[in-house]
Amino acid sequence: SSQAGMDFSDDQVVLNSESLEVRLEKLRETYKNGKTRSSAWRKTQLKAILKLLRENEDEIYKALDDDLGKPRVETYRDEIGVLVKSLNFALSSLDKWMSPKSGRIPLLFFPASGEVVPEPLGLVLIFSSWNFPLNLALEPVIGAISAGNTVVLKPSELAPSCSSFLANTIPWYLDNDAIKVIEGGPDVGAQLLEHKWDKIFFTGNPRVGRIVMTAAAKHLTPVTLELGGKCPAIVDSHLSSSNLKVAVDRIAWGKWGTCAGQTCASVDYVLVEEKLAPTLIELLKKTLKKFQCEDPKNVARVVNKRHFLRLTNLLQDPGVRDSIVHGGSQDEAKLLIEPTILLDPPLEAEIMTEEIFGPLLPVITVKSIDESIEFINQRPKPLALYAFTNDENLKKRVVSQTSSGSVTFNDVIVHLVCDELPFGGVGQSGFGKYHGKYSFDTFSHGKGVLRRSFLIEIGPRFPPWNDFKLAF
Ligand code: NAD
Repeated sequence: SSQAGMDFSDDQVVLNSESLEVRLEKLRETYKNGKTRSSAWRKTQLKAILKLLRENEDEIYKALDDDLGKPRVETYRDEIGVLVKSLNFALSSLDKWMSPKSGRIPLLFFPASGEVVPEPLGLVLIFSSWNFPLNLALEPVIGAISAGNTVVLKPSELAPSCSSFLANTIPWYLDNDAIKVIEGGPDVGAQLLEHKWDKIFFTGNPRVGRIVMTAAAKHLTPVTLELGGKCPAIVDSHLSSSNLKVAVDRIAWGKWGTCAGQTCASVDYVLVEEKLAPTLIELLKKTLKKFQCEDPKNVARVVNKRHFLRLTNLLQDPGVRDSIVHGGSQDEAKLLIEPTILLDPPLEAEIMTEEIFGPLLPVITVKSIDESIEFINQRPKPLALYAFTNDENLKKRVVSQTSSGSVTFNDVIVHLVCDELPFGGVGQSGFGKYHGKYSFDTFSHGKGVLRRSFLIEIGPRFPPWNDFKLAF
């Protein structure tokens, strides 16, 4: 039975800095008393998150519908399903992750042994974003708990139903002495940043990422920044027509079938040789029809008015407006923007200089595939890079001649659910990585431990120095 909706207003009031410090001090004490270190405690908390998800499925659908008009299938797949998968993976791997890994020691120190012992960092702060408001909040929490830390989670205020869902349910399921949700917007975020943390894990945009990193520097707090950027998809002209159809379905799914393009690893734009562009656009239109994307039941809406205006403004530029080859209509009251395809909008327009983060898809033509690689290299390093091709040589070049958080061939976004691949950015798309064991490592310190014995001292180690010792 659901316990969401119970009042935990104590955790939601605007922060009074004294009471905040008291609450943080309690969490630090919990950490110090060692409670979070046992694998039993960690597993109990991970299982409690599973229970929370299982027992509140209906509230979750409702919260995602309130905040983003997210279709239930997307909510199950991207929020509940992915988290259940990650929790089960963490539960089955935890003992292995926690066990020390041996490190070889030079013979010079024989007899000796070495190991890397993972230790928790302490009290960690997690800021999450609104587009996958449960997933992006709880996925790092799974890592932080697995690694044995105490946690403060600040969900995004732009997904208020999900934020209050987390604030209301977490105290019922998880250990309140170790895990707290603090709700609020940038002001609360700024207040939290004044305090000393042992790690800050931030998902959001690069502008706020800079604020976080600046605040963290004051206390020498390590940070992970999961940021965004413009993720390109290259489509090779040599694909067979059946492969091309698969490519188009997957691109359309990545743009309109995952939070209406409000996804950090969504396809931001497509790069294609001029000769293939007309076919590609026709196929994209057909796919939109097939997916019934004109029906709001099948596509999430834009999160709020500010983002709606940001997106519709991108289409205001006359050059951009003229480049629309499909869609473009808007319904401000319902926060809906029709899936929109653009062909060669001006490259200096904002739609091509800023991350789009919405249901607009520019198709950019190039003279040759080589030009695509140059195009990507002239811009900030993306979070993800996609290429649809069977050309092994091109695949090699994409991997070795470009830089991005990750590369996926012949699909989009699905790398995010591969537990054994790290997820994270590089350059402007952020730094640090998580998911699976990488989450555990992100919230741990790998402590090198060298064990020597009192036996044997090899070589002339001690002064006084002489030429013989130098030669040795
Ligand atoms: P945002 O940076 O506005 O907000 C992120 C978090 O920071 C929120 O919790 C917010 O309340 C807080 N915040 C905002 N301003 C703050 C301030 N001045 N001081 C302290 N805290 C503050 O980002 P957003 O709009 O929620 O997310 C969109 C961006 O996030 C996009 O760029 C997207 O690509 C990126 N993103 C990245 C990933 C990833 O995993 N790499 C995932 C989702 C989104």
